[in-house]
Amino acid sequence: MEMKHRYTDEAVCRDIDLVLQAWKQQSRGAAAPLNRLKKYAKKTGDTSLYGFVCYHFADLYYYRNHNYEKFKKYIAGAIEMLMQSDEKELLARAYNFVAIDAINFGSYDVAYNYFMTGLKISEEVPDSLIPGILNANLGQMFNELGRYKLARTHIRKGLKIIAQHPEDGKYYRNLINMHFQDGMISLAMNEIDEVVKTLGVIQDLMYRYDGTEEGDLSLPLAFIRVRIALAKGWDKEADELLGDLLSAIDNESALYDCLDDLFTFLRYLIEKKNIKMAGRVIRAIAGKIENSDITHVSLMFSEILVSYFEAAGNTRMVVRQLRRQHELMKSQRMDQRKLHGFSIDLVRMITQIQEKQERIVKENKILQEQAFTDALTGIPNRHAMNRELALAYEKAFRDQRALGVAMLDIDFFKQYNDTYGHKKGDECLKRIAQELDRVAEDPDIFCARYGGDEFILVYENMDEDMILQRAQELSHAIASLKIRFENSEGSGEVTISQGICFGVPKEENKFWDYLETADRALYSAKRRGRRKEGDDGISFSYT
Ligand code: GH3
Ligand code: MG
Repeated sequence: MEMKHRYTDEAVCRDIDLVLQAWKQQSRGAAAPLNRLKKYAKKTGDTSLYGFVCYHFADLYYYRNHNYEKFKKYIAGAIEMLMQSDEKELLARAYNFVAIDAINFGSYDVAYNYFMTGLKISEEVPDSLIPGILNANLGQMFNELGRYKLARTHIRKGLKIIAQHPEDGKYYRNLINMHFQDGMISLAMNEIDEVVKTLGVIQDLMYRYDGTEEGDLSLPLAFIRVRIALAKGWDKEADELLGDLLSAIDNESALYDCLDDLFTFLRYLIEKKNIKMAGRVIRAIAGKIENSDITHVSLMFSEILVSYFEAAGNTRMVVRQLRRQHELMKSQRMDQRKLHGFSIDLVRMITQIQEKQERIVKENKILQEQAFTDALTGIPNRHAMNRELALAYEKAFRDQRALGVAMLDIDFFKQYNDTYGHKKGDECLKRIAQELDRVAEDPDIFCARYGGDEFILVYENMDEDMILQRAQELSHAIASLKIRFENSEGSGEVTISQGICFGVPKEENKFWDYLETADRALYSAKRRGRRKEGDDGISFSYT
């Protein structure tokens, strides 16, 4: 469910709207509503909202206010909170975020792990856009790494999902960018026909896009046109089209999204010794990225400049760039150390939360088991019996097989208690329960304490002779325990009586009938005089 629809408080909804608007437009108005929401989330102990606040603070400090320490604090906070809430979609987005950060440090392996975790989490969210974004970014990463086939698989998977979400605020931007990526991959694989096809798709999308809400989207189209012209060897046309590309670069608000493709383009131009064109592109982007606060980007650009000046025969500039590169590499190494420290902290935190959650699940399971176990004897209780018998009954009804239900009761147990005391009575119950538990080792037999001195056995997949034989063996086994019972009117040791109901269920949901019939059979066994010489204390009844 969308975040704001969870809240009835109007002020909260308005603040959530303000945050989301500032996020989509990458404007700066988010801090005040975020601070208000943070207070509200803290007061109400709302982990979903707190996670939302942390995520958007992280975005604010990463893309707008540029404070990396604060970004780290907030994105870790977001993951911590969202793991403990049911906001799985935003949690997956948070993983996407840390992955992109890792790519910006040139740490692709770290990024890959985050992407995969994000994908795994987003499996729990049906019809979500996030797997589309994650796949798109994974594809872009593999494209950067030159793993074109893998890149294409992810890009196309991402495209399919993104296309299903026209409600998203960056629908056309994402869609056009993904098709553009797909085209770049075709280009890298020398499939010019595919690139031309992609051009058609992008043109079509541009035609449908009304050109305001998501900013200027002309860069991919201009870019792909130049690339096709060059690939076909139409140098003059390419030169003309380059003007469009340069002005599109000027108007682009999110140049970083296609920087890698621009770099690839520059490398291509330099390799083809098209120094003039490379120079024009370099001059168009240099101001925007030379002093980027992402060292990895500055470094890649510097490497391109070295080959450019080398190709242009400008040794003085080559040396100058190499010096700069040396400085950048030192600072990149420091950055990467910091990044790895941060990702280890994240993993440790995540593991701790997971362990805590596993512990809670385990504890709940134990509590649940306790609720279905008889405290005195340790065998299943009446609740467990209801559940088990209902299942066994339904199965027997469905397969039209026989089912046996036996009700067991200790003979003269009141008297036993009176004679030996309650404590001895408890021990007696435990020993009998043990015996039943032994019988229930057979997967077709289930035992439970029904209450007091009454027990239940459920027999599945057995005919009446087998059940009768088992019942007789049980009576005999209990007598053989030789629990002394002097006062008994019977045999000198504790005995039981059994009433058994047997038959194929004729109606649905009627297991209570079986219990009632077994109870009546038990009553008639007792009436016969309980267990004594020549009587096994068993009464068999058919439904
Ligand atoms: P019958 O042969 O007809 O079954 O006679 P009975 O004396 O066994 O009669 P009844 O089943 O009515 O008595 C059950 C007795 O079981 C009554 C109660 O004091 C005793 N009882 C019930 N729960 C417990 C228990 O948890 N511990 C002990 N020690 N005794 C219990
Ligand atoms: Mg009894």
